[in-house]
Amino acid sequence: MVKVNVAITATFENIKSLQPQRGVDDPDLPYFFKLQCMNCGEVCEKETCVIMSKKVANPSGKGTTNLVKKCKVCSREGTVTMVPERGCPLSLGASLYGTYITLMGFEFNGLEPVSCSFGRGWKAESTYGSLPSISLVFVLVMGIYETTGTLFEDIDLSGAEFADFCDVGQVPVRVSNVRAQCQVVPHWGYGSGRYRCRYGYGYGYGTRYL
Ligand SMILES: [Zn+2]
Repeated sequence: MVKVNVAITATFENIKSLQPQRGVDDPDLPYFFKLQCMNCGEVCEKETCVIMSKKVANPSGKGTTNLVKKCKVCSREGTVTMVPERGCPLSLGASLYGTYITLMGFEFNGLEPVSCSFGRGWKAESTYGSLPSISLVFVLVMGIYETTGTLFEDIDLSGAEFADFCDVGQVPVRVSNVRAQCQVVPHWGYGSGRYRCRYGYGYGYGTRYL
């Protein structure tokens, strides 16, 4: 079994945070993986959608999983199970440094992810809300997002980009160059997501990237 954190980064323009519509553990956010069979090495070019609200019986007999996929070449079955409560929103601070922030954990059995991409179901907050501009300086310096900006909802990231106009700040807003990494981690205790949320750390030593 391979434990993988899906982590993202993006370039922000007048945006201070990006996350799934109902928070990082949004049960309806689809993840699109290109998957490789660990038995025969076949890579399925068509992306497979994994979504937390969709649960199926695990073929091993142990509980449920979020995806069961049979390899077209060798017929071996593999599973993908989501492990929530590991992620945090992508903040302005992390975006500025190009730091990858964990969104969700996945356990891959018999399969390994080659790449991950996204579709609908995201929200972003602009740097312009109802608070005075001094708070914006604070946000930039500290890389945190305590203030409330203007919310943009139901964003589609299938083109890895989103653009709109913020009426409050009278500025264009943009999320571009959205990239995802599949980071293999040795165990789930590794680099707790909540701590990294606060301080914007993306990853550490010992992580293998796919
Ligand atoms: Zn196979």
